[in-house]
Amino acid sequence: MPHFESTELFARSIGASTDIVEKEMYTFADRDGKLLTLRPEGTAGVVRAYIEHNLSTSAVLQKYFYLGPMFRHERPQAGRLRQFHQFGVESFGSASPLADVEVVSLLWRFLTDLQLPGLTLEMNSLGDQADRTAYKAVLVDFLQHRKDRLCQNCQRRMETNPLRVLDCKNPECRTATEEAPRITDSLSTNSRAHFDQVQAGLNELLIPYVLNPRLVRGLDYYTLTTFEVTSQHLGAQNAVGAGGRYDGLVETLGGPKTPAIGFAVGLERVSLMLPDSVALPVPQLVAVAAFGPQGSSFGVRVLHELRSLGVPADTDSRATSLKTHLRQADRMGASYVVMIGDDEVVKGQALVRNMTTKEQEEVPLSTVARHLADRLR
Ligand code: ATP
Ligand code: MG
Repeated sequence: MPHFESTELFARSIGASTDIVEKEMYTFADRDGKLLTLRPEGTAGVVRAYIEHNLSTSAVLQKYFYLGPMFRHERPQAGRLRQFHQFGVESFGSASPLADVEVVSLLWRFLTDLQLPGLTLEMNSLGDQADRTAYKAVLVDFLQHRKDRLCQNCQRRMETNPLRVLDCKNPECRTATEEAPRITDSLSTNSRAHFDQVQAGLNELLIPYVLNPRLVRGLDYYTLTTFEVTSQHLGAQNAVGAGGRYDGLVETLGGPKTPAIGFAVGLERVSLMLPDSVALPVPQLVAVAAFGPQGSSFGVRVLHELRSLGVPADTDSRATSLKTHLRQADRMGASYVVMIGDDEVVKGQALVRNMTTKEQEEVPLSTVARHLADRLR
């Protein structure tokens, strides 16, 4: 997907009265005066491409992932950046609760496989359009009686997007809405059944979750299932990943009626949480120490061969003596050093040093790269 799209795409899909569209988008006019926006999230672009490439005509379910930078004009702080990265998935074509279970379990597996600490999966259902219209009326009625206890922002949201009041982080708004009617009490029989089956599926997989009827999510396009994974180790910015079903979005953007569901994970927040115990395997590095007029030109060749064979290899092209090369190899943390001076070229033998044991052996220059590739395999 491109990193920017037409502004209208985001405004139409995410919704005009959301945080993203109201205040977080990086929008600019191109040379033709057309308004473009650096993508604040991935779903709108995936749906745009899905429609543009006619993917709904495929008989197989369309399942996608993306990974890349997103842009939001927010106040930068720990876990909240203006350019951050999301990994996300989108699954098109199935209205079955099994698709919800598949997508939620994928998110849960991804995060638990990384051994992230203190994770909680929160689940909610926003019902369908009709449920939501009915609920909004009940909610606004409730809010009317507490209007003066709400922040300025929420008083405005009451008119434009009352569900977002439940999302407000302001402690006073939270207290004022503690007793708010629950959306899950306004679900139709069908929506209720869908949510029950999603929960049954998660129970079947022994995936733990808590129900959070306040989880309305900041985007307009969600229907039925919404979910979020939070961690108690993240401080204020505690959401690691989130998603939901968006059965109306493809149609809203001009495609055929298509059920769909997806999630996005914030990778910077994931990396903030990675426990120290998750030691990433450090690849063994080979340093090439080539010096002297003939040695140096052979060194370039050996470096190229090693890298072509997939062996992590490096050299310091400023070094002109063996001593400097060895010092730099040490700094790079190399496991092996291939030493090639003019003498080695004459003999046709390189000297390979194991930096841990300090043992050295002679290996023919013509096969030294292959020899090391085999050894490091
Ligand atoms: P938040 O409540 O933290 O503002 P959000 O609801 O705006 O999150 P989503 O639109 O659901 O976030 O994006 C999915 C994930 O992307 C979030 O759970 C989070 O991990 C990550 N994310 C969102 N905004 C940022 C940001 N500005 N910097 C870093 N990560 C972010
Ligand atoms: Mg946000």
